Amino acid sequence: MKSCPKCKSNMIIEMVYGLLSDEMSDAVGSNKIDLGASTIDPSSPEFKCRSCGEEFGGLGKFLNDEFIQDDL
Ligand SMILES: [Zn+2]
Repeated sequence: MKSCPKCKSNMIIEMVYGLLSDEMSDAVGSNKIDLGASTIDPSSPEFKCRSCGEEFGGLGKFLNDEFIQDDL
């Protein structure tokens, strides 16, 4: 389980970027994930803390990795 680097909460949600599927829109609506920018850059946070709002976990590593993943 991930925890917030700032407040140690484990209420962590994933940030999503780009176009959303209907399923992802539902998840945003129920606060399971949060909507990031429509474009992505290496400094974009991967996770967000629902307790304090801290955003963390840069996505840079993924850009070196296999980033194109349609199935979440
Ligand atoms: Zn926090």
